[in-house]
Amino acid sequence: MRVLSVASEAYPLVKTGGLADVVGALPGALAPHGIATTTLLPGYPAVLKAAGRNVVRAWDDLLGEPARLLAGGIDGHPLLVLDAPALFARDGGPYADATGRDWDDNWRRFAALSRAAADIAPDYDLLHAHDWQAALAPAYLRYDGATVPSVVTIHNIAFQGRFDADVFAALRLPAAAYAIDGIEYYGGIGLLKAGLASASAITTVSPSYAAEIRRPSFGMGLEGLIAARQGAVHGIVNGIDPAIWSPEADAALPATYGARTLGRRRTNKRAIETAFALDRDDGPVFVVVSRLTWQKGMDVLADALDALVAMGGRLALLGSGDAALEAAFLAGQARHPGRIGVRIGYDETLSHLLQGGGDAILIPSRFEPCGLTQLYGLAYGCVPVVARTGGLADTVIHANEAALAAGVATGIQFDAVTPDDVLAALQRAIALYRVPGAWGGMQRQGMRADFSWNRSGARYAELYRSLIAA
Ligand code: ADP
Repeated sequence: MRVLSVASEAYPLVKTGGLADVVGALPGALAPHGIATTTLLPGYPAVLKAAGRNVVRAWDDLLGEPARLLAGGIDGHPLLVLDAPALFARDGGPYADATGRDWDDNWRRFAALSRAAADIAPDYDLLHAHDWQAALAPAYLRYDGATVPSVVTIHNIAFQGRFDADVFAALRLPAAAYAIDGIEYYGGIGLLKAGLASASAITTVSPSYAAEIRRPSFGMGLEGLIAARQGAVHGIVNGIDPAIWSPEADAALPATYGARTLGRRRTNKRAIETAFALDRDDGPVFVVVSRLTWQKGMDVLADALDALVAMGGRLALLGSGDAALEAAFLAGQARHPGRIGVRIGYDETLSHLLQGGGDAILIPSRFEPCGLTQLYGLAYGCVPVVARTGGLADTVIHANEAALAAGVATGIQFDAVTPDDVLAALQRAIALYRVPGAWGGMQRQGMRADFSWNRSGARYAELYRSLIAA
């Protein structure tokens, strides 16, 4: 089976979040199931470096711009790069300029990616589009009258690709597509919406999130469409790539370790204390590796810093995002030197160290489609302390008394993303940390859990097969 996977980012070439990890891992996850995945990415400068000179296809006029498709490789799997300099040859990030301002022509950039995907999709058995940036591809297939089946995966329904209606003509869809069951969305256009209305199947990245997005509080305007397509919606949890995330063989760690050698984590904890200028004591170090945004509950955590320190906690935080939140954490560090350490920025190596030496990773998300940092925490014995939502609810086993007695607990969950609930969870973590055997038991239980792609790869394969047979 040949699958075309289309996305705006893929690790290790370009990454702003979990989407990249998943798109990068999928080809390897699907290969054992007899599926050959070709990944199609925009030709940003960093991605063009992975492309060869072999031109697979060329367009004089791809939604108004000349473009060509170059063949390359990503981790040993086939890659196609959409080389369209007018759209992608820019400094800055994949979606925004260096100051963080979204590119004005994002609608055209990603519509062109989707148009290119739809043009070549008939060479494949199935098209798999990720998030709004690729979601127009199934809509193009539908209005082309193509028969190749398609899947749209929602990695985060908060990002919908909404634009003004006046760009509709430039998308070169038939007029009939500007309709309630097509691309029209509250008087404008919605690229994710068009994909959800058009794809053969919809997946999202955890069963809980699949249920949550049927409700207004999580569906963000798309709940009606999700509910109407309920029979076509599947929740498949993300896996993690053990080639990149294994504490036994992680080059980013001063000390590698396994479930039987947890004592070696102490070396990594010392490295965190040094890097973040934290005091040394015998209590836990909480860590955060996150976008600093409202979704991630970082405003609530910022408000809880003084109380966290008052209860004897220490925090090492790595993140970047909203300027006001960055400032709030830096102010917390200034108020509590030695107790709060903050690194603003994006640093893959440091993220591994925090998982490999931190005692607990704190994830107070208001919503979390899947979440990867709790999975890395589980694999690394960095106990997740998480809000009970989406993929966090599905992957962490809360340390209630029954779970502790049965030895199955892997972390701590809390209900409301409020300072009170977050602090109560931290208090519980600090208390459990002092119960002999309890903390190590949770660490080992988490490390034993299988969050590799084995199960999820099989579920995607099963879904693809059912769509191709239909
Ligand atoms: P999201 O995709 O919503 O940001 P996920 O938990 O699914 O959240 O994925 C986040 C990914 O980005 C993880 O791989 C995490 O380690 C990484 N990450 C987030 N912030 C940083 C940072 N400041 N430095 C390094 N890695 C980061």
